[in-house]
Amino acid sequence: MTAYAATVRYFNEAADLMGLSQNMRTLLLTPQREVKCQIAVQKDDGQIATYIGYRMQHDSARGPMKGGLRFDPAVDADEVLALATLMTWKTAVVNIPYGGAKGGIAVDVKSLSQAELERVTRGFVDAIHDVIGPDKDIPAPDMGTNAQVMAWIMSQYQKYHGFNPACVTGKPVELHGADGREEATGRGVATVSLALLKKERRPPEQTTAAIQGFGNVGTYTAEFLHEAGVKIRGVSDAYGAVWNEEGLDIPALLAHSRETGGVKDFNGGDSLEGGAVLTSDVDLLIPAAIGGVLTAENAGDVRARYIVEAANNPTRPEADEIFHRNGVQVVPDILANAGGVTVSYFEWVQNRQHFKWDKSRVRSELDKIMNASFEAVWERATAKKVPLRTAAYLVGIGRVGRATVLAGI
Ligand code: GLU
Repeated sequence: MTAYAATVRYFNEAADLMGLSQNMRTLLLTPQREVKCQIAVQKDDGQIATYIGYRMQHDSARGPMKGGLRFDPAVDADEVLALATLMTWKTAVVNIPYGGAKGGIAVDVKSLSQAELERVTRGFVDAIHDVIGPDKDIPAPDMGTNAQVMAWIMSQYQKYHGFNPACVTGKPVELHGADGREEATGRGVATVSLALLKKERRPPEQTTAAIQGFGNVGTYTAEFLHEAGVKIRGVSDAYGAVWNEEGLDIPALLAHSRETGGVKDFNGGDSLEGGAVLTSDVDLLIPAAIGGVLTAENAGDVRARYIVEAANNPTRPEADEIFHRNGVQVVPDILANAGGVTVSYFEWVQNRQHFKWDKSRVRSELDKIMNASFEAVWERATAKKVPLRTAAYLVGIGRVGRATVLAGI
């Protein structure tokens, strides 16, 4: 099953419960615009390289479209459309005034020099600048992109359209970025994890966790959960995995990872085979890397009672069914990792008002939205006796559907 087919399946599960007509389903699922473009750049050695870029604009019923940019060799039209669709439901679940979009370039950033990466980024903006903008579609970071890439996007966009930092979020703090944006997704993941544990009357200090993926989202999630007292036993990244039954020393692991570029060879634990983290002996499992890692093959072996989806689309529907049967609670991506886009919204608001918030305001507004959104989804799940994922889709699709009907065709 492709990534997009998985998101459609989740959509239809909720749409069935809502009794949504086929026409409405088609309207809500059909993307508004799909851009596929060529990006030709000169490499440092003078050779010409050609890449394919995408910007999938799924829905704008609730506001300008919003979503990250992924630079990864695995990027293709199906995956980007799946991620764009998820953004529509995600912005609706946390009730911020946006629709959903996603973009990407099929490129291995590790194969590019900084100068080449800049040319690829600017080339992409040259191709899409007319269809993005503060009131149309606002890009942001995702896998393989960061604040520096967002700075180049802003700079290139402004060459065509004049000063307008609200055209992209996740920018460097020194260049109209929001304090607290970098940590936001991880902080949000930790906040909903703790909210779930509270519902389950399980003290954080008596909870063990494993995190798959130690990039932007995984590292901040680890930091905030560790701070709250959760014992993080296992962490993996693309190059290795570490395990400590008594709980890893997260500040030391963060320092090691910053220094060496990964968790491998950390001396505060035993090494583990990468994929083993997913089925390790912990209460809380946090997939925080790529999509499609929890499948029919490994779902039955997952020992965690709780899964919080820090990654987008980590669980295939067959695995989701197994989790439901086994009583594993899954906090879905469209709620769990919405902290990133929520602080992107705060950044956009600050840019438009030319008024800077301090980090404590960003954090407290984020915590408020994440806790309220978790509560709304939890209540819907309880009232309808459905899993949290279905409940989140009910909330998200409900809001997008109402906005669509109210505005009319
Ligand atoms: N890429 C992030 C996501 O998947 C953030 C998107 C944004 O900030 O617009 O939610």
